[in-house]
Amino acid sequence: MKTLTTYNGLEIPAVGLGTWEIPPETAASAVETAIESGYRHIDGAMIYLNEQWVGEGIEKAIGRGLAGRDDLWVTSKLWNDSHRAEHVRPAIEKTLSDLRLDYLDLYLIHWPVVHQHGVIRPESGDQFVSLEEVPLWETWQAMEEICAAGLCRSIGVSNCSARKIDGILENAKVKPVVNQVESHPYHQQKTLKDYCDRNGILMTAYSPLGSGGRPQRLLKNDEPSLFENEVLKELAAARGCTTAQIMIAWAVCRGSLTIPKSSNPQRQRENLEAMNIDLADDELGKIADLERGYRFIDGTFWEMEGGPYTVANLWDE
Ligand code: NAP
Repeated sequence: MKTLTTYNGLEIPAVGLGTWEIPPETAASAVETAIESGYRHIDGAMIYLNEQWVGEGIEKAIGRGLAGRDDLWVTSKLWNDSHRAEHVRPAIEKTLSDLRLDYLDLYLIHWPVVHQHGVIRPESGDQFVSLEEVPLWETWQAMEEICAAGLCRSIGVSNCSARKIDGILENAKVKPVVNQVESHPYHQQKTLKDYCDRNGILMTAYSPLGSGGRPQRLLKNDEPSLFENEVLKELAAARGCTTAQIMIAWAVCRGSLTIPKSSNPQRQRENLEAMNIDLADDELGKIADLERGYRFIDGTFWEMEGGPYTVANLWDE
């Protein structure tokens, strides 16, 4: 099992199972089959609304002796309505209870976006709260406290620009171990990856296959398909592997963690096995040339009239 090591010495399996959009009725078996196939890293979040079933899958796998709790790396994420310091501990406690776990390996601030408490999906601009009112560093201090209290082994961020991480670091006792962001050949995040490398923060590549299974309301008509990219297809054909495996291998070869989602046991195995493909420099070079700055998860859903968030201030572009 390939792993990456955090700046404070924790080892994270390089390829994990994403669980967004795995419906409750299949989440337990999807997680169980993944652990059976060798996955030791599960990526979840409260907002995926399936943590109870993800927890059931983990419990069943542990019960069958497929893995011990300490062999697994389990990540979850703080939702946007719980950024105020007093809401952080209840939020992780709810996640732990749903997952049937005593501790998480990693807890992330899911988005640098704040909602009013109890507003899961805002429908109007006034249901957001600005980062001036509830700054990320304040949320971060509460994250440090739950980590010190043993509710999680490490803490990190997601969807954060270098500037936002710098803001957190100014007031932090501990650094984020991870920044989880969208990354694939069409949006490689080279500058952010370099920043993370310089600061000893690991980057986790989410939506490494282009997030084709995300909800209809987030799909665009004219979006490009990574699976249809000729260069990726040719690289796969030349190696006798799949296009998905090339994308996953690319993420791992450049030193990222990555968390492809699949509910299908065969594709889960295929994705995990991609970790063992060592791409050569010329192959990596061809993939580097595919960059087109294209986000599948573009953040436009946080832009609402009268609200504090825009795509520009979200990504700090
Ligand atoms: P993804 O992993 O890029 O793509 C998942 C889609 O690809 C599903 O439709 C899946 O279908 C299909 N797929 C998986 N393996 C395949 C293969 N080998 N061949 C062909 N198709 C394959 O998308 P994602 O779910 O957006 O991203 C992965 C994970 O990242 C999420 O599940 C979540 O854990 C995390 N994430 C985090 C954030 C954040 O804000 N932090 C945002 C987005 C995602 P099947 O299930 O049918 O195989």
